[in-house]
Amino acid sequence: MNKLLKKVLVLTLMVAMVLTVAACGGDDGGSDVDAEAPTYKAVTEATFPPFDTVDEDGNIIGFDMDLMNAIAEDQGFKVEYVDMEFDSLIPAVENGDADMITAGMNAMDPARQAKVDFSTTYYDSALVVVVSAENDTITGIDDLTSDMKVTAQIGTTGADKTEEIAGNGQIAEAVILNQYSDCIMQVINGDAAACIVDKPVAEAYIKNQGGKIKIVGDEMGAESYGFAVQKGNTELLDKINAGLQNMIDNGTYDELVEKWFN
Ligand code: GLN
Repeated sequence: MNKLLKKVLVLTLMVAMVLTVAACGGDDGGSDVDAEAPTYKAVTEATFPPFDTVDEDGNIIGFDMDLMNAIAEDQGFKVEYVDMEFDSLIPAVENGDADMITAGMNAMDPARQAKVDFSTTYYDSALVVVVSAENDTITGIDDLTSDMKVTAQIGTTGADKTEEIAGNGQIAEAVILNQYSDCIMQVINGDAAACIVDKPVAEAYIKNQGGKIKIVGDEMGAESYGFAVQKGNTELLDKINAGLQNMIDNGTYDELVEKWFN
């Protein structure tokens, strides 16, 4: 083989390799349409089952994720979930570190509405008082007294309520913790008299962990959860709202409620 032919062959081979790499680069093996689908970053706080939790392998799962994934598929986008503390969720979306919040977040709160835009709401909730299953003296919020510590999760509506009754002297201390699981743990081990949490989450805990805690008294402060996006991001909010409506209309929403709550 002469030198020139060799050079041409080597060059051709190199070009072919570069083209092959370019064709595969950055693609996860999906179709070209998939490759163009935008991926949005969703933030959550994953100690809030059945809305937001993790499986044995550490994957973020829950009603919120299933519902948002169904919306995403319907609307032609993808979602990647990131776990962070509840009081970091709104700042993350405000400063553009995340595209949306999927976190069982009460959308009826004016202070939050001033910072982010909420979707149509997708789940009604309320705050309740939770005590140890063995506690016979506390039958509702009025039985919480000035010798008691009450837990709640940081940045939540439950924390607002707990700080309110600590502020007016009804209870000794509002113990504000990073994770819901720790709030409940303090009630179970007797470090705190009660925890103020969202009713569906307390009910799921009672159902799944059986017998350790109970709900007492009436529901307080009706809430309704919404997904949140950065103020003015109507492009994403419109997709979420359209997809959510489609999931309600086609029965997917009801299937997911059945899967996670019944
Ligand atoms: N629903 C409560 C709130 O919006 C708690 C939500 C949560 O902890 N994920 O503040």
